[in-house]
Amino acid sequence: MTEQLSGLTLIKGHIIEAKTFGDPVITENGYLAVEDGVVKGVFADLPAEFVGAKVEDYSGKLILQGFSDMHLHAPQYPMLGMGMDLPLMDWLKTYTFKTEARFSDNDFARMAYSRLAADLVNNGTTRVCIYSSIHTDATLILMEELEKAGIGGYVGKVNMDRASGECQELTEESKRETLRWLDESTRFTHVKPILTPRFTPSCTNELMDWLGKVANERGVYVQSHLSENKREIELVKELHPDCEQYWQTYDKYGLWTDHTIMAHCVHSDAREQQAMIDHNVLCVHCPDSNINICSGFAPVRQMKERGVWVALGSDIAGGAQLPMLQVLTGCLRMSKARAIATEGKEPFLTVGEAYYLATSAGSRYFGDADGFAPGNPLHAVVLDETRLPPSARELTVKERFERAVYLADDRSIAAVYGGGKKIK
Ligand SMILES: [Zn+2]
Repeated sequence: MTEQLSGLTLIKGHIIEAKTFGDPVITENGYLAVEDGVVKGVFADLPAEFVGAKVEDYSGKLILQGFSDMHLHAPQYPMLGMGMDLPLMDWLKTYTFKTEARFSDNDFARMAYSRLAADLVNNGTTRVCIYSSIHTDATLILMEELEKAGIGGYVGKVNMDRASGECQELTEESKRETLRWLDESTRFTHVKPILTPRFTPSCTNELMDWLGKVANERGVYVQSHLSENKREIELVKELHPDCEQYWQTYDKYGLWTDHTIMAHCVHSDAREQQAMIDHNVLCVHCPDSNINICSGFAPVRQMKERGVWVALGSDIAGGAQLPMLQVLTGCLRMSKARAIATEGKEPFLTVGEAYYLATSAGSRYFGDADGFAPGNPLHAVVLDETRLPPSARELTVKERFERAVYLADDRSIAAVYGGGKKIK
């Protein structure tokens, strides 16, 4: 059950904030002050004005920011861990479209999506940008289940009217259902619709053009995939011979705009990266998926240095790990593989940097400032390290944080706050 925090609440513990892309800021034995679910500030010593307020006491425990999973496919939850020996295009045909087609059944969707929402909360993911399937009703069920669980963010009914196997829509049907879904989505408070052309190969030019107009007219954001795999990039070139680069197939139809989300960008070159910077496009790095489907090693350090906005995603079920702590450590391992391959020319990411990508980088998408900044809705995760191995000496809080990032799972997540509510 979710429980709204009302009045002034002080959350006490070791507070660990990703205020910048670098080392976290740690306030030991501090107070995170929250009023009606909104952060007032982080204090090492309790200000006089807060004395006597209600305290949620996690003394000695680690308080992290809630995680934002900026790219995942809800209807692929039932196929987690399957077909991992196949390349992208074969994996889509053999497993993905067949699984997604099951979501024409609303009862199946309800069962799967309530389980997914609970799994997200248990693992500390409090906000998502998530794909549904082509099915309007199942998409609304997903939105209901997320909202009920206390998870916020953006949900997309997928559009695909070309080369999409069991999931292919007729163009007119895709348009009609998208409008029905947008109209019905107005009833939600914490989850909003986001337009979701699956990726260029699965949408006709007519549909892309129509989606671009709807995005512009209704002020709706857009999410899709970009430069994940070399075979996919070749296919996009054949489909759009007039476009020099993949991103231009979105730009041509008005889908490459402020807050557009592009998953992967593994093979984006300097020019494609610059186009992301110029239009405030968010690149979502999905390390586990990129390894599983053998897509490649995304140049995250390089993108960050150039100024690309990068956050993390689980990309289930290309990624086989839903917990963002696993995605975070997967990101670290991939960056080390790049450091090895470049003989250290591209330094690997640190734990603090990856923590930033898993939290603040994504929460900026929802309008938050970095860290537990005043004015942010409260999104927090409390870690209890009791289950972790005994240490041979007393650890610093920073050491404890770094160790917990690698070792903690849902059993170590003692409490979760999302959107100003206690949700676990
Ligand atoms: Zn994806």
